[in-house]
Amino acid sequence: MKFEAVYYEPSSLSYDLGKELKAQFDDIPWYPIESHNAIQKMREKPNSEFGRMKRSLVVGIRKTHKYTENHKVSDYLVPYTSSGCTAMCLYCYLVCNYNKCSYLRLFVNREQMLDKLIRKGRESARPLTFEIGSNSDLVLENTITGNLQYTIPYFAEADAGQLTFPTKFHMVEPLLGLDHRGKTIFRMSVNPQEIIRKIELGTSGLKLRIEAVNAMCEAGYPCGLLIAPVILTDGWKALYTGLLEELEEGLTEKMKKQMFLEIILMTYSYVHRAINSEAFPNSPDLYDKEKMTGRGRGRYCYRPEIRAEAENFLRKEIKRIFGDASIRYIS
Ligand code: SF4
Repeated sequence: MKFEAVYYEPSSLSYDLGKELKAQFDDIPWYPIESHNAIQKMREKPNSEFGRMKRSLVVGIRKTHKYTENHKVSDYLVPYTSSGCTAMCLYCYLVCNYNKCSYLRLFVNREQMLDKLIRKGRESARPLTFEIGSNSDLVLENTITGNLQYTIPYFAEADAGQLTFPTKFHMVEPLLGLDHRGKTIFRMSVNPQEIIRKIELGTSGLKLRIEAVNAMCEAGYPCGLLIAPVILTDGWKALYTGLLEELEEGLTEKMKKQMFLEIILMTYSYVHRAINSEAFPNSPDLYDKEKMTGRGRGRYCYRPEIRAEAENFLRKEIKRIFGDASIRYIS
């Protein structure tokens, strides 16, 4: 991603990471802003500018550190060092929160966020798992900030529980040699290559993702696969059987033996439809009025009977192809 401009909160330049980012992107314009949450110039842009807006980088300080309870792979969703992303998956869940302003924001106060995490982990009577990647893609972010190289060994040494994050990117090379002590659970998100190509715009291809998760597993990280989001587009059964077969063939024995699976069916929204129709007029329309129903606040999900069919199909195919692979949940 080639950024065109940086919007920054001036106080972020007093942090080490802020200074590093200033040096790294010194060749493009930097515009001061009052708050990363309210950049009027960006808010006023039309939806058709969505792709272009992703070429802006925002640098600020995270002020809200609210942990949200979660009962899937982690105990808490934790806001961490970034929100938003440079990629443009047509269903991106962040669009529901940030609308067209879902460009990448980097928060420079990582020491403060990590210290809070460690305190929370140590105060707990039982080991906790913190999901730190629910607001962005940390592997992508890491190519700019190096924050994972900072976070993973520091947290492992602190012995304060486990961290986890999912990704749709393959750039894991800098993580392989880290002293992680098994305290970071790595989760690779996968979809059929045809869906990646048409819908997960700007993310890594399936083969690269498979190689990356194999490498992380080989490096000793506990690893999982997220089949997400499952999109019930024309021919979806053949697409997902093809995906499972490709995984069976491409994953190492070690990975297959220790992995767990999460499966999430796509949700979509009125906001996605509005942005995608103007920003990507030639892309497939993910809204399917035959299969979807309203879920409140302008959101859509697959109808219960359609979901049940998809769930049965996927469970059956996973059993057939992977035997007793552990499915943590289907949602
Ligand atoms: S990679 Fe993740 S965060 Fe980035 S656009 Fe796709 S779904 Fe959104």
